[in-house]
Amino acid sequence: MPSATPAALRIAVIGTGPGGLSSAIALSELPNVSVRVYESAPALKTHGAGISVNHNGFKVLELLGAREGVTGASTNPTVQRNAYTGEIVDPGVPHDPEDKYEARRVRRLVLQESLIARVPKGLIEFNKKLVSLEDLEDDGVRAIFADGTDTTVDLVVGADGIRSVVRKHMVPDYPLAFTHQVGWRTLVPVELLQHIPDLPLTTTSWWRGAAKSVWLSPVDELSNLKLMEFSVRTYNEPYIEGKTVSWGMPVSGEKVLSRFKDLDPRLVEAIKQVPEGGWMEFASYAGPSLDTSVAWGKLVLVGDSSHPSAGGFGSGSAFAMEDSWILARAIEHARKSTDTVADTVVEALRIFDTIRVPFYKSMNAFRESQKENIKKMAQAVWDDFDAELRRRFASDGLGVKRGQGFLSFVYSGDIGKTWKEFVESEKARNRG
Ligand SMILES: Cc1cc2nc3c(=O)[nH]c(=O)nc-3n(C[C@H](O)[C@H](O)[C@H](O)COP(=O)(O)OP(=O)(O)OC[C@H]3O[C@@H](n4cnc5c(N)ncnc54)[C@H](O)[C@@H]3O)c2cc1C
Repeated sequence: MPSATPAALRIAVIGTGPGGLSSAIALSELPNVSVRVYESAPALKTHGAGISVNHNGFKVLELLGAREGVTGASTNPTVQRNAYTGEIVDPGVPHDPEDKYEARRVRRLVLQESLIARVPKGLIEFNKKLVSLEDLEDDGVRAIFADGTDTTVDLVVGADGIRSVVRKHMVPDYPLAFTHQVGWRTLVPVELLQHIPDLPLTTTSWWRGAAKSVWLSPVDELSNLKLMEFSVRTYNEPYIEGKTVSWGMPVSGEKVLSRFKDLDPRLVEAIKQVPEGGWMEFASYAGPSLDTSVAWGKLVLVGDSSHPSAGGFGSGSAFAMEDSWILARAIEHARKSTDTVADTVVEALRIFDTIRVPFYKSMNAFRESQKENIKKMAQAVWDDFDAELRRRFASDGLGVKRGQGFLSFVYSGDIGKTWKEFVESEKARNRG
């Protein structure tokens, strides 16, 4: 049994994406913990345009007390279309107004603001770029920043995204690679698109082409619809040295149009309406699963740093929030059976890894299994394209039907339930 009150646990969270903000919320709610958050940027930033929040996302937002205000448009039905003819190849799952966890497309800013509202004031320090970490053995870990300052803590939470500096200390030669997928995203005032006959503006539509797709979706409640989101992507972009950059680069409308001008004329006309300066480019990178997302008994990766998976099937921010919430539960739980701060952290990281690593491994295995399908789609010949598309949707061979097949494992997750199951399994393990 642990003795008296444990000493305060010092935590440095690196990054203020969904992973960093949710870590700040979940960890700062624990008693006897001191949390500081360090962000390299000068202020909070929002990359991208819209974001899907699925069942798993809403569940964890509830646990973080940050669900309120995360409103947007239901993505049911997501109508799948042939991108060249506009013909519907799959009508999608009907909207269920009774389902409070139904997937929604929301503005990224809305999600970010809901999280920020829950972060205690004064926790975040900006212009603090982590450059290195030093293992101080029994004295914790020193985080050193680009401005020459440093801090010593018991636990560093690496929520520093796909090019994580924390991960570099754990796996220095981690092979992050360009996937040849590039996405371009923007939000457009709905009135700029309303003149286009038969362009669907009140439902989500996903237009599938060979080696490319266009996602068009409202991002507001339909009763207050102001913005539509375009998320367009190609699957066979060449790598260009110095120009293929991960996140949120401004890009010209001309470049985007050059990739999509062979599509249904409604889409071409819609893409032309995006005001210059509106598009952002996202080149997607991915890497293999890690066998562990913890190290030194003092470092843990949450969010994209631990599973650079090219967008995480449109649920990467939910995964990051789930990681954070589980980390807080793991610390809380570990404190019941440990005496010292160092032991608490080691035990908490064991629990964290036990729950999260198998999850990410399954997801990565699924992503690998889809590579062949994506390659086949990229090579599809036009004459066969429509029939092939229909066949794949009918059989779910493409793995793209939300909420069905493997992806139901991802989207219907309930991290609170996962935690309860873990606690039960530990009890059984201890009894046995
Ligand atoms: C095109 C695209 C579409 C996507 N669509 C969806 C979607 O629909 N739904 C969904 O849930 N997810 C989606 N995702 C995934 C989602 O955006 C990510 O999974 C999510 O942002 C991960 O959050 P994070 O906090 O781990 O990392 P990030 O959001 O990348 O945040 C990392 C933070 O760390 C900071 N940082 C980095 N290095 C340092 C350093 N050395 N020192 C200090 N700070 C540092 C960065 O400035 C940044 O603020 C999409 C991703 C892409 C690329």
